[in-house]
Amino acid sequence: MASVGQITRQISALEISSKPNTTRPATTATTSQHQKKPSQTNVSKLLSKYAAPNPFPSSTSLQKTASTQSLAKNAEASRPPSPTRPKQPAFDIGRYDGGFEIENETRGEKVTGQAAEDLALDSSVAAYRPTREWHLTDFDIGRPLGKGKFGRVYMVRTKREPHYILALKCLYKSEIVQSRVEKQIRREIEIQQNLRHPHVLRLYGYFHDEKRIFLMLEFAGKGELYKQLTKYGCFTEKRSSRYIDQMADALMYLHSKHVIHRDIKPENLLLGINGELKIGDFGWSVHAPGNRRKTLCGTLDYLPPEMVEGREHSEKVDYWALGVLTYEFICGAPPFEDLSGYNATYKRIARVDLKIPSKVSPEARDLITKLLQYDPERRLPLSEVRKHPWIVKYRSKGHSTASAA
Ligand code: AMP
Repeated sequence: MASVGQITRQISALEISSKPNTTRPATTATTSQHQKKPSQTNVSKLLSKYAAPNPFPSSTSLQKTASTQSLAKNAEASRPPSPTRPKQPAFDIGRYDGGFEIENETRGEKVTGQAAEDLALDSSVAAYRPTREWHLTDFDIGRPLGKGKFGRVYMVRTKREPHYILALKCLYKSEIVQSRVEKQIRREIEIQQNLRHPHVLRLYGYFHDEKRIFLMLEFAGKGELYKQLTKYGCFTEKRSSRYIDQMADALMYLHSKHVIHRDIKPENLLLGINGELKIGDFGWSVHAPGNRRKTLCGTLDYLPPEMVEGREHSEKVDYWALGVLTYEFICGAPPFEDLSGYNATYKRIARVDLKIPSKVSPEARDLITKLLQYDPERRLPLSEVRKHPWIVKYRSKGHSTASAA
C-alpha cells in the first residue's frame, strides 16, 4: 500500500503546469474538421474546457490512472487545444469586487515564530519535484463564491494559457492561530492535496504571503449541496440514490488511502459543473493507517454511537454517516435530530432510536437500516452499498459499476 509520502511525491508531479501546450500531435488538421464549436449557452461544456485538469474524468478510469505516468497523460489530454486551433471564447468569471485587497487592509496580522513556520505553506517548494511558484498576481480574479470562517473564496482564471478556471480560497493565518487549528489546517491541506477522485474536490496547489494562505481548489460549478437541500427540503429517491452511490465510491477511495473522513454531512459537500457530488472539506479527516482513534469530532447529528460514547472508532464511522446522509436526503432532516437539545440527540444515537417515515421506499429503508447499525462491524460494507438494489435501480446507464464490483 502506498504511503501518504509516496502519494504526495507522485502527485506533486501533477500540479498544474504553467506551460502552454505546444506538443499536440500533427493530427490537428484532421481533428479540427470535426471540431464542434461549443455554443455560448452551454456553460457547463465551456466551463469543462477550462476547468483545471482532473485526471479522473469518470470512476471507470480510477484503476487505470493510478500511476503518475497515466495521470500526467490524462492531464495533458484534458488541456484546451493548442494555439494553432481557433481560440474558444474565454469563460466569463464574473466581476471582481476587490475583496482580497480590501480585506487584507483590515483583517489579519503577521504571524511569527513556530506558528509562522507551521503555516509557511507553499507547494512550489516541496522537497521533491518543486513546481512553479504561484502568486495572487498570476490570476484574473472573478466573482466571489462565498465566505468561509477564515476568509473569502473567489472564482479565478490563470492569466497564462491555458487559462484554467479555479476557486481560490484565502485563509488568514492569524485567525487560524487564534482558533488554534494550525495543525488541523495543515493536515486538511496535506490530505486533500494527495487525493484524486472524481467525487473528491481537488486541491491543485497552495501558496502564501505574510498574512494569508491561498488554496487553489477545483471549481465546484454548482456550489453547495446544502443550499440545494435547503431549497427543496429533501431530494427524490432517485437523486438521493445517485448521490449516495457517488459518496460510497469516494469513501471507498478515501478508506483505501487510510483516510477516514469523520465529518460527512451536507454542509461539506459541493456540486461539480455537471451536478456531480464532491467531498469538499477535510477539516476533521485523519490519516490513520491501522490506527483506531478516540477523538470526539464532527457534528453531533452525524456521529455514530461509538464516538458519542467515547469508544475507539475506525473507518466504519463513515458508513454510519452515509446512513444518516441517506436518511437526511430523503426525509429532509437527520434521523436522530432532537430539537430539545444535544443530550436528547446523544441518547437517541446511543439507542439507535431510528424511526423511518412511511413515505420511504422499502429498498431505501433496507439500506438505511443496514448502515445505521450500533455495532460498526455489522454495518453494510461500502462495496455492498454500491451493489444494493436501491443504488443499482437508479444508477444511470452510462455510469460504470466497475469500482462497485
Ligand atoms: P468555505 O470556506 O470552504 O466554507 O467556503 C465558503 C463558501 O465558498 C462555500 O460555502 C461555497 O459556497 C464557496 N466555495 C468554497 N469552495 C468552493 C469551490 N471549490 N467551488 C465553488 N465554490 C466554493
